[in-house]
Amino acid sequence: MGNKLRKFELIEPVMAPDARAARRAVAAPLFPKETMAADWNAVLQAILTAWRARVWVLVSKGYIPLTQRWVAANCLPATFLTATATTAGNKNWFCNYRDVCPWCYMRWVSGVYRAAAEVTGRTEGGRALRMMRTVHLSYGAGPAGLTAALDTLQREARMALRANQAGPDAPGAAVGGVWSVMVDPAVVRKDGKATTKGTPFWRLRARALLVVPGDRMVGTLRGWDPPQVLGAPGSEEFTEVLAGHFRYPAGLVRGNPSRAAECLQVRKEYPGYLAGTVGRLRGAATAGG
Ligand SMILES: [Zn+2]
Repeated sequence: MGNKLRKFELIEPVMAPDARAARRAVAAPLFPKETMAADWNAVLQAILTAWRARVWVLVSKGYIPLTQRWVAANCLPATFLTATATTAGNKNWFCNYRDVCPWCYMRWVSGVYRAAAEVTGRTEGGRALRMMRTVHLSYGAGPAGLTAALDTLQREARMALRANQAGPDAPGAAVGGVWSVMVDPAVVRKDGKATTKGTPFWRLRARALLVVPGDRMVGTLRGWDPPQVLGAPGSEEFTEVLAGHFRYPAGLVRGNPSRAAECLQVRKEYPGYLAGTVGRLRGAATAGG
């Protein structure tokens, strides 16, 4: 592989809030906190190394076409300003395998962040984000089980949004939100804890994050986390919540390669997978409601 790999050298990390959220969403599940705090270049190189190792595996499993392997391996790092020290490939490629490529995933999270920030920025009377409890579910191995599980999770996330949007006068009604359904091919036990042996189960997660006007914190849905009132978009809290909401499924890079490939195949065929952004759902967000 050698000289076809582009060498990316750190100039500086991008510190815009959406970039920080995206970087944290990917780095936090992959590296211990100390690594992240100590050395940005180490984080950049570690993500590069982990991703490139996985690219070859995904090619061998047929998820990434052979012709795309260098594009994927040389995908331009996101959230870091870099210099390239080699001449191999002068273009700045995006591979667009955002389901697994940490850089494309970061670019996607940045976009979602900006969409969510816009919704929260437009609510009147302060802003609040309400997070749905996180649903962790484990299912038996196999594509059929995973598809069924995804259906269930997606339905649950959608229903939560819909329930919260019922009527502009309903207390605690949301004016917008983001829901996500994430699949991590990490091997887990039935109780959801990570394990290296035993029966493999998918780790699945559904979350809905709603934007409600700040003065409407009454009314709650069963099984929901207590509402959190967050500061303005761009605040540390907001960044942290978004990063947590869209945490990168580390098992895609660290877990069993064949399970990752199986997981990706199902995801590819699954319509509407991953996440939806509900923008300004009602005029209420801006029209004094
Ligand atoms: Zn990419």
